[in-house]
Order: sequence, then C-alpha cells, then structure tokens
Amino acid sequence: MKTYWKKKSQEEIKSIVFKALEDNVNYDTQNILGIPASYLDSKVFNQDSSFIRDAPFISSLIQNPNHIGCHTLGKSEPFFQGTQKIEQDLIEICAVDILKGEPGKQDGYIASGGTEANIQAIWIYRNYFMKQNAAKREDICIVCSEDSHYSMDKASNLLAIDIRKVPVDKDTRKVKEEGINKVIREAQNNGKKHFIVICNMMTTMFGSVDNIEAYTNQLTELSCDFKLHVDGAYGGFYFPFTDENSLLTFNNPHITSFTLDAHKMAQAPYGTGVFLIRKGYMQNVNTSEASYVEGEDFTLIGSRSGANAIAVWMILVKNGPFGWQEKIYILQKRTEWMCKQLSQLDIEFYRHSKSNIITIRSKFVNVEVASKFGLVPDNHLKPEWFKIVIMDHVTIEKLMLLIEDLKSTVHDKS
Ligand SMILES: *Cc1c(COP(=O)(O)O)cnc(C)c1O
Repeated sequence: MKTYWKKKSQEEIKSIVFKALEDNVNYDTQNILGIPASYLDSKVFNQDSSFIRDAPFISSLIQNPNHIGCHTLGKSEPFFQGTQKIEQDLIEICAVDILKGEPGKQDGYIASGGTEANIQAIWIYRNYFMKQNAAKREDICIVCSEDSHYSMDKASNLLAIDIRKVPVDKDTRKVKEEGINKVIREAQNNGKKHFIVICNMMTTMFGSVDNIEAYTNQLTELSCDFKLHVDGAYGGFYFPFTDENSLLTFNNPHITSFTLDAHKMAQAPYGTGVFLIRKGYMQNVNTSEASYVEGEDFTLIGSRSGANAIAVWMILVKNGPFGWQEKIYILQKRTEWMCKQLSQLDIEFYRHSKSNIITIRSKFVNVEVASKFGLVPDNHLKPEWFKIVIMDHVTIEKLMLLIEDLKSTVHDKS
C-alpha cells in the first residue's frame, strides 16, 4: 500500500493544480511590488487562451512560480506556497512510496538534474565531514566505480576533493570486493579518513547496479568513516519497480541520500532531477547569506521553476503506482524480447536482468547501423560498446528493423 501515491483522474489533477496556483501570489490582482518575478511575457505567452484554462501544466509554466530553496524544512517564500505544497507531496511520494523511507523523515527538492543532485550530495557530505570531524579537504575522498557518471568528476573538481574509482569487471560490469578493498586501502595510505561513496542504481552506459554490500562490507571491515549516496539518476524510476527486494532503499541504514532523474525514465521535462536525503543533513549546505530569500537557501541551484515539480507530480499521479508498475513491466518484456533476438544471432551484449539498457559489443555493430538507429557509443573516439535504451517509443516494431540490419551486417561467424 502506498502512503502518498494514489492514482488521480484528470479532473482531480486539474483541480489540485489550479487550486495550488490560486494559493500562490497573483501578480494581476494583488499589489506585489518587491520581487524580481512575474508571469511569463504576455505578448508571447497569453494566459487567456481558452485551452490554457484546461491545461494545468501550461498554466503553471505561464504563471511561472519560483521554487527557490528547499521546502521540506524550515520556512520558504510565501509567494509560492501553493505550488510548493505539490513539490512537498512529490518528495514524499519519491522518498516514501518509491524508496521506502519513513513519512516525514527525508528532505529533498527538485534539482536541475542528476548532475546537480549528485553534486548537492557530495557537497553536503564534504561540509559534514569538515564540520563534524574538523576534516580538511585533503582528508576526504569520493569513491565510486569506473562506470559512474561523469558528474562525480565534476563534483570532485568543483569541491576540490579527490576521487578514486573502483574498477569493474569488463564483462559483468560488477565492482569486486577486492577492488574496493584495494582502492580504500590506497586512499587510507594517502591520508584519506572520510569517504563519500557513490553506489549506482543503474549506470548510464550499461544499466548495471552496484552491489552495495560489497561496498559496505569493505567500508566496515576497514573501519571507514563514510557517507553513502545512491545515484539513481537513470534507474530511480525503473529499478525500484523491477527489484522488489532491492537493498537500495531508505530501509538500508547505510544509505543517506538518493538522486533520481524524472527527465529520463519518467519522461518529465528537463530540469527535473530529484534529490532526497535523510533529515538532518541539508543544514550542512545552508547559505545563510541568502538573507533576502525567506527561509534561506539549502540548494545548489537558486531560482528554479515550480512548473517542473508540478509536471513530475502530474506524471506520477496520473499513472498511479499500478500504472507505473505496468509501464515498467512492458519495457522489461520488450527488453527481454530484444535480448533473445540478439542471442539467437550470437551477438554479444551486456544487460542487467532488471534493466532496460542493452549494450552491444562494438564489433557487432557497424558505424552505418549505429548512426541509422541512433545507438550511443561508450566513447565517440574509440567505441567499444553501443547501447540501446528501451524507452516508451522504442517498440518491438522499431527494434525489429534494427535486428534486420544487424542480421545483414554481422559477419557470419560460423
Ligand atoms: C544521466 C545521469 C546523470 C546526470 O544526470 P543529468 O540529469 O544529465 O544531469 C547522473 N548519473 C547517472 C547514472 C545518469 O544516468
């Protein structure tokens, strides 16, 4: 049973969103003179067209609420409290109903994307170690796998802390305990005392999922002080629905925070990264100098569109939890179909059984086929792999065309 996530009809959705917009400031009817914000330029975006009155998302875009700050703790800008409430509900749906957190025990916000949410996490833990343990930047180190997203390298660069990568097996894409052990011991020998560990819930290129126990066993065995963040930018709206017994939830006491991207598998507009963290940590990045913002600012981004949060909320409640489960089920079935076809052609590929990414060895794909079907390489200069991502529009009819082309281009290996 879901606590917050209930399927809603279009009528209910409309009435909730329009009510929320009404609870926001109204620049037409009220005298709001002090904020650098207004509705979208009405010469271009007309609020009065009749179709807009039936379109809650477009109306939200045009009224342009600013969700600056974090709305799950302390105070927020009162001008946009109506739609901020929808964002709070969305955070609860993601933290409690998708990731099994306890109600009211997590903070979070809608970030610009997975990159920001990952940097936000690493920023929080860096400051946490510096405050709690009087650590210096040199004592802190990011640990992630070599299949991790490049946002970890951005975070390392921006926050001026080291990053160390655990090798993965080239066939299974798994991190091994020996590899983790080696990386951590080397870091310790170099004076690292505090570890910011990233565990992947579906990697960008392979859809692989890290074995969190491999990390936590080694971190415990080597008596490490650590904080663990799960990068579910790709998998956050997928993997929790294919692995019922996932260890990557807030039930796992080793995990402190998550990134999920609604603009990937949830088909939301860009600008919808979801950052979630157990209560008590956001405070490490409060910018108290943000004194003109009511409630100050605990986020990396600053001003951000409230319409983004509304879009994600609408998508989730329109589908409802069972609709979502069915949507993912269909993508799993198509992925299985495709894997079967590839196996019959003796084409080598990687696929995690709970994922919708199929990554094919480059020797089975010629450049023309890759470009014709928009297959993405791991490396544009020297591709070793090409991936297929089974999205909503990637139907079996379309996959069949790729199979036909692969059949005629793959060398007869017998
Ligand atoms: C896409 C992705 C990111 C980055 O997300 P953006 O929304 O593009 O910033 C981070 N991690 C993983 C695993 C991803 O797939």
